[in-house]
Amino acid sequence: MYGTGILKGLGVTLRHFFQTYADDLRWAGKGGRYYNDEAFAVRQSPEAQGVITVFYPEEKLAVPERFRFVPFLVTDDPPPGQRWGHDWCTSCGICAKVCPPQCIWIERGKLPNGRPKPEPVNFFIDIDICMNCGYCAEFCPFDAIKMDHDYELAGYDRSTAHIHDKARLSKPLSYWQEISPKRAAAEEFGRQMAESAKTKKKGPDEEAAPGMPNDVARQLPYRGAQY
Ligand code: SF4
Ligand code: SF4
Repeated sequence: MYGTGILKGLGVTLRHFFQTYADDLRWAGKGGRYYNDEAFAVRQSPEAQGVITVFYPEEKLAVPERFRFVPFLVTDDPPPGQRWGHDWCTSCGICAKVCPPQCIWIERGKLPNGRPKPEPVNFFIDIDICMNCGYCAEFCPFDAIKMDHDYELAGYDRSTAHIHDKARLSKPLSYWQEISPKRAAAEEFGRQMAESAKTKKKGPDEEAAPGMPNDVARQLPYRGAQY
């Protein structure tokens, strides 16, 4: 019948309207429906009742593991009293080469004898130009640059605040393991396998590690490699 769809839609709206008040009463004695982590988790689940508005920025939706925003640089976990550990980045420059909008600048270190040092003195990313494509992270052979989950980067200064330097970009490995546990574990497995293959120095026809063919192991990135 003509108009049935409209009535159904209005019925759904009305149901949500009353369910919101019912949910308010349900959470009344448990800290309230809003600004309450427990109630927020229920509101974002299939058990949600009524309006599920999020009061950003006090309440924030969790992002999925594969979410990607501007990149950050991975370092070892820092020793006590320090903010970062040893850089994983070897300043090879691959990320800067593959970056489509060319928004990465790397200042490579120098050894006392003048030869290049495999770590950056500084590293800049213009986050206004970065398009969050993730190529830098995909191509980095050392797992040293990763896509962050931090999307709250707005600021009032448009001259320099959006050019992130090495200090701003560096975050410890434990941060990456926290925001992306599955990928971090898979990468760690790959590194261990590659390290094992390297240490054993097996022949081309021998197996590099259980379950991993030699030719695959050779492709895996490993930390500490020199160029
Ligand atoms: S590709 Fe990786 S190791 Fe090379 S400069 Fe970029 S972040 Fe550093
Ligand atoms: S995410 Fe893409 S655009 Fe941003 S720095 Fe990496 S390669 Fe460049």
